[in-house]
This record gives sequence, C-alpha cells and structure tokens, in this order.
Amino acid sequence: MSLEIESDPRNESFARVVVASFMTRINPTLEEVADVKTAVSEAVTNAIVHGYDEGEGRIIIKAVTDVEERTLEVWITDRGKGIEDIKKAMEPMYTSRPGERSGMGFSFMEAFMDQVEVVSAPGKGTTVTMRKKIGR
Ligand code: ATP
Ligand code: MG
Repeated sequence: MSLEIESDPRNESFARVVVASFMTRINPTLEEVADVKTAVSEAVTNAIVHGYDEGEGRIIIKAVTDVEERTLEVWITDRGKGIEDIKKAMEPMYTSRPGERSGMGFSFMEAFMDQVEVVSAPGKGTTVTMRKKIGR
C-alpha cells in the first residue's frame, strides 16, 4: 500500500484511516487498530509540523502486512528539513517547540508499536519505520 498526500493537517485523519483499513487483512482487535492510528497520526503530524514547518510538501505513507506472521510495517516519509540529533529528538518530552508542543510523539509511537526506527538527514528529510505484531 502506498499513499502520497499533501502536507496539510486536514489529511492527517485520512492517512490514519487508510492504514487502519489496510491492516484489517491481519484481523486486528479494535485496540490494536487504535494503537496504529495513534502512531501513524503522530508521525504524520511530525512531518507536517516539523518536517515542512507547516508549509508545502508531500508525505509518503507505505504499509505492508505479512498475513501469516500477522505483522504490519508502516513507513512515513517526508522530504523536509530532517532531524540533526535523532537520539535527542526521540527522548520523552524533548521538543524543538517548547511551550507549543509536549515532545511526546515519539514516545507514543514507541508505546503503541513494537518497533520504531528513524532515519533522517538534515535538509533531506525523515523516514519513520514502525512495526507491530498483531495477536500477541
Ligand atoms: P508532540 O508530538 O508531543 O506534539 P513534538 O512533535 O515536539 O511534540 P515528538 O513528536 O516526540 O515531539 O518529536 C520530537 C522532536 O523531533 C520534534 O520537536 C522535532 O524537533 C523533531 N522531529 C520529529 N519529527 C520530525 C520530522 N519529521 N522532521 C523534522 N523534525 C522532526
Ligand atoms: Mg510530534
């Protein structure tokens, strides 16, 4: 599954519903769907708010399921400003916009998914890869 959307907060709910619908093929519980929706939502919001600084850009969302293993893998990519220090960015409560945001996005992604990986280069963009096993 591959989806390209404009960086617009109005597309955020669309993106999370697309991934939620796609993952029905591995028979998730409602709770598992809700977890994935939250994680996708946080990653897409980050692309819009931080990656593109609320300006123009495109966000690519890809997802793959393994029906036998009942796993979901999701990639969220922006070609925005990138992250200089990924380790620091992923720390709970770290935000580059104090007072405005709470710095909990990556913590939520890690709490609701089994694995979260970030690849980023300043000036080039960011890809967040998330994996979840269904039916644990
Ligand atoms: P919250 O998610 O609670 O609203 P936040 O977005 O600042 O706050 P995180 O989602 O944990 O917190 O992200 C931490 C920091 O990582 C951000 O403040 C930002 O500096 C950086 N960051 C995250 N995603 C991106 C991205 N796609 N492009 C550039 N920087 C990013
Ligand atoms: Mg965030």
